[in-house]
Amino acid sequence: MSEVRLGLNIIQGVGTSTSMIMKVKNVYVATKTKYQEAQIVDLEEFGRALILDGFVQSTEADEFLYHESLVQPAMSTHPNPARVLVIGGGEGATLREVLKHNTVVEAVMVDIDGELVELAKKYLEVMHRGSFNDPRAKILIMDGLKYVEEAPQKYYDVVISDLTDPYGPEISKLLYSTEFYAKTKKLMKDDGILVTQAGSSFFFPKTYEEIVSNLRSVFKIVREYWTWIPSFGYACNYVIASDKHDPLKLTPNYVDEVLKNRGVTNKYYDGRRHQVMFASGVIIGHKP
Ligand code: SAM
Repeated sequence: MSEVRLGLNIIQGVGTSTSMIMKVKNVYVATKTKYQEAQIVDLEEFGRALILDGFVQSTEADEFLYHESLVQPAMSTHPNPARVLVIGGGEGATLREVLKHNTVVEAVMVDIDGELVELAKKYLEVMHRGSFNDPRAKILIMDGLKYVEEAPQKYYDVVISDLTDPYGPEISKLLYSTEFYAKTKKLMKDDGILVTQAGSSFFFPKTYEEIVSNLRSVFKIVREYWTWIPSFGYACNYVIASDKHDPLKLTPNYVDEVLKNRGVTNKYYDGRRHQVMFASGVIIGHKP
């Protein structure tokens, strides 16, 4: 799906033939990097926004819903997340969420697109909020596929996959495969946790089911949850996987205590939200 602009509107791809029209106030970046078409704009209703290949990735108004939902359940489920790997996550907001936890000693972010990361540093301060400069953060510009083949084994406590959608550009497709998850598991400690955003199970049910099934073939515990993201035009699905830790077992009080002890403050995610997220099941796929 390619992005189309009508005057000062942006047409955001939602499904294969469904779009949202969003009014643009300012355009800061409209370029093609080596890997993707990138736009950084102000949207009238959502504020500063990153759009890649016609898909809204994050907006100032609701990125906290997306990023807290991606990062906080996995981090809270792990009893002591010290070493964390982020694959993708160009805006730096996933890194920001990871670094909120005072247990973290090292957070490595691997993104394929160095040009995009530089643009994010410059224009997306509202999202990264300085996370790129945190002394615990290490930014590597390389393909996540290559990184998992070379990285130290049994090293990470939590791995967070924040890639472009599985039905989006080619660069991220293979990073949702069974082979990729099996290689990533080798980088994780025995009680490690992996979480991935998984696009929309409503508009792309087959792709979504494949991701869940790929993770099930590699990990013993696989749980699904979702959060409504207004600027995406759908509820974004997430899948969390581990051999040891089960997010379903966490009580609201336990989660609130963990967040408090680690000095984490959120706008969206807390103990009650954790419980609701994991109790609400999966969105039914759309079969016309
Ligand atoms: N919030 C997002 C969404 O809506 O899909 C995803 C966030 S983020 C901007 C996606 C990042 O994944 C981009 O910065 C892109 O460069 C990165 N990416 C895509 N393929 C990659 C790969 N093979 N290795 C590492 N990073 C990759």
